[in-house]
Amino acid sequence: MNVILLGPPGCGKGTQGALLAKELGAPRVSTGDLLRAAVKDGTPLGVTATGFMDKGLLVPDEVILGLISEVLARPEAGKGILMDGFPRTTAQADAVGDLLAKRGTQVDAVLSLEVPDAELVTRMQGRAAAEGRADDKPDAFNLRLKVYREQTAPLIAYYRERGKLKEVAGMGTVEEIARAVRKALGL
Ligand code: AMP
Repeated sequence: MNVILLGPPGCGKGTQGALLAKELGAPRVSTGDLLRAAVKDGTPLGVTATGFMDKGLLVPDEVILGLISEVLARPEAGKGILMDGFPRTTAQADAVGDLLAKRGTQVDAVLSLEVPDAELVTRMQGRAAAEGRADDKPDAFNLRLKVYREQTAPLIAYYRERGKLKEVAGMGTVEEIARAVRKALGL
């Protein structure tokens, strides 16, 4: 089963993604994690990405499309994959659809985790203190939220039109949300 996790920064994608990956027995792949690893290792991808990431901007599609095609070509992705943090733009969504179609498969479900902005800001303050991510500083976080609304939220309509969208309220305890996620996916 190929599942996409969609939601604003701080909505709990990472936490729910880890639980869901276990439930599905599918690898969770996060482009954010891959990019942070590339930055840490100082690879050419990391050097290109770091300026965009620190500001809270999306890394340009022409850079990300290569990463996505590499991820979907991995043997372990063959039996299904949980996509966390991608696609983030319509161009990326088109590319994911095309790459999966070439392998004779498709996006099966898109899980949209909905959390009000005020709650996202409270969570970001907690995470900034705990993890010290540069892009969780208030200015960068607010820009990430704006970028999400402008560039990524249109994917909600994109996948609704294609009959793939499952909306889940991302409020409550981790277990309550995990239960709602499983229910939405019919697990
Ligand atoms: P995340 O951990 O998913 O919140 O991603 C952290 C940052 O990495 C984002 O704010 C972007 O700068 C960059 N990033 C991660 N995934 C993507 C993507 N699919 N497209 C563009 N930029 C991305």
